[in-house]
Amino acid sequence: MKKICVYCGSSSGGKPEYLDAANILAEEFIKRGIGLVYGGASVGLMGKIADKVLAFGGEVIGVIPHALAEKELSHPGLTELKVVNSMHERKTIMADIADGFIALPGGLGTLEEIFEVLTWAQLGFHSKPCALFNAAGYYDKLAAFLDHAVREEFVKDIHRNSLLVDNDAQSLLDRMFEYQAPSDHKWIGRDET
Ligand code: AMP
Repeated sequence: MKKICVYCGSSSGGKPEYLDAANILAEEFIKRGIGLVYGGASVGLMGKIADKVLAFGGEVIGVIPHALAEKELSHPGLTELKVVNSMHERKTIMADIADGFIALPGGLGTLEEIFEVLTWAQLGFHSKPCALFNAAGYYDKLAAFLDHAVREEFVKDIHRNSLLVDNDAQSLLDRMFEYQAPSDHKWIGRDET
């Protein structure tokens, strides 16, 4: 994996652990020579992880729509900033150039973004790993809800388990490197009629 897309809050959240997680993940990217792909903003955890990777001399590619460039204050010091026309274009470019996806803690935008690439994986549109960096247990309840969705037979466990959840950056990245996409896609061998 050469580039990983990180989705995360345009806010910094209410605990210092979230910021620590962004810093730790940035350090792990540098150790492994991984470039960061992200939403291009200078605010919140988004800005923090970009600053940290850049401070270590790493590569950061930001992708931001014109309409958000002012609102989220596009980061002025990135290796490359792609300014695009729409949110859809932003997400497509980020998904195309990255070899895997991680959600740090974040809000509705972060959730939408990680679930979009996860559903594409479920349909077999890509084979790249998707992961939650569960800093300070932020995603515990979401992981529990997904287990509930499996029990209620709306999600197959093979697809639930393709979302890697870890609270340790090193182990999370090790698991992403070892990840093998399931061959059973949503519409193969379906039992619904
Ligand atoms: P948030 O997690 O809500 O702080 O947002 C994190 C990032 O997701 C920001 O760059 C937002 O612009 C972006 N975002 C917000 N809403 C959406 C959406 N509907 N689809 C994709 N990205 C979004």
